[in-house]
Amino acid sequence: MTSLAFDYRRPDSVDQALALLAEADPGTKVLAGGHSLLPIMKTRLAQPGRLIDIGHLGELRGVHRLGDGGLSIGALTTYSRLLANPAITVYGLLADVLPTIGDVQVRNRGTIGGAVAHVDPAADLPACLLALDAEVVVRSARGGRTIALTSFFEGAFNSVLLPDELITEIRLPAASGDYGSAYRAQEQPASGYALAGAAVVIGRSTGGGGRFDRAAIGITGVGECPYRASAVEQEFLSSGDPAAAAHATDGVLVASDIHADREYRTALIRVQVRRALEAAIERVG
Ligand SMILES: Cc1cc2nc3c(=O)[nH]c(=O)nc-3n(C[C@H](O)[C@H](O)[C@H](O)COP(=O)(O)OP(=O)(O)OC[C@H]3O[C@@H](n4cnc5c(N)ncnc54)[C@H](O)[C@@H]3O)c2cc1C
Repeated sequence: MTSLAFDYRRPDSVDQALALLAEADPGTKVLAGGHSLLPIMKTRLAQPGRLIDIGHLGELRGVHRLGDGGLSIGALTTYSRLLANPAITVYGLLADVLPTIGDVQVRNRGTIGGAVAHVDPAADLPACLLALDAEVVVRSARGGRTIALTSFFEGAFNSVLLPDELITEIRLPAASGDYGSAYRAQEQPASGYALAGAAVVIGRSTGGGGRFDRAAIGITGVGECPYRASAVEQEFLSSGDPAAAAHATDGVLVASDIHADREYRTALIRVQVRRALEAAIERVG
């Protein structure tokens, strides 16, 4: 099967891309690395009438340190480019997960902005960015806004991004040396996507009697879209016990499909969260 015919635009700048998006053609889609969009166009699950190809726009690429110590990752930065950047060595979670995503080709073409915008319920990176308290910076011809990633995902392949908006960067708060992190996922063997995956960032303050004062846990593959397991976070902060993983699906309608039914997936994610917590505890400074 091949995609249906579409109009193709290749703007020379972000401003030109935003002007095209402002034309409010409901069949318009942005094309970045194309590793998610093109396969679903070929199977006709997506049938955009117009593609705005932003993949070559250098102004959306690159990793920069922010004045407050945080990190700005341009939306078109690929997994490979991010992994090669020395700034991410302090974000142990990213250093762990990026080499495991897809294969070399996917990591060389897939972009961070595309991974966030696509809202694949089983993608690896969104869960990690949730655990890192990431923010999404978006622009349109009307202006810009910054959205906490925890408020960005709305459901499977659905976010709060408006049709005329472009993700321009992902921001991470400054990393602190006193935290430990880990990502654990059971992969679907054929696709490599997570059947159930947990990204954990925990930390304890100096002088806090060894108590944990930070716990952020992103889950993927389980709900309609990646989410923060706040019930686990609260329980872990009060007990410091990885058994808090038992709350991984509290308040979530767990997905059920031919790869894993609801009961199995629920058991699977509890195990992944527990393993990620145990690994993070070992790594905490
Ligand atoms: C063979 C294969 C294996 C893979 N394995 C994995 C895996 O193991 N784990 C995993 O997590 N992922 C996996 N992926 C998916 C891959 O990570 C994503 O395809 C990729 O990150 C999406 O980025 P992209 O630049 O290719 O997005 P595109 O395909 O170009 O776009 C995806 C969607 O995001 C929108 N979009 C893109 N950029 C922007 C922007 N800046 N602003 C607004 N909207 C935008 C597009 O309009 C489209 O709707 C795999 C993909 C393939 C093909």
